[in-house]
Amino acid sequence: MKATVNHDACIGCGACTAVCPNVFSFDAEGKVVTAPVQDADKEAAIEAKEGCPTSAISVEE
Ligand code: SF4
Repeated sequence: MKATVNHDACIGCGACTAVCPNVFSFDAEGKVVTAPVQDADKEAAIEAKEGCPTSAISVEE
């Protein structure tokens, strides 16, 4: 599974990094970057997508 963030929509709230830190993290410029979604993190990645206040996250197999 792969997660991507639309940086035009992201407001940097940090919800995704709190819910699924193995996949979502901030880079040095405060931009959310994503790591490949391991099987153990799938549910958390989907939770992060659903919890994003600006619907900036997409996940696909
Ligand atoms: Fe950006 Fe959404 Fe993550 Fe908040 S939850 S930091 S708006 S991608």
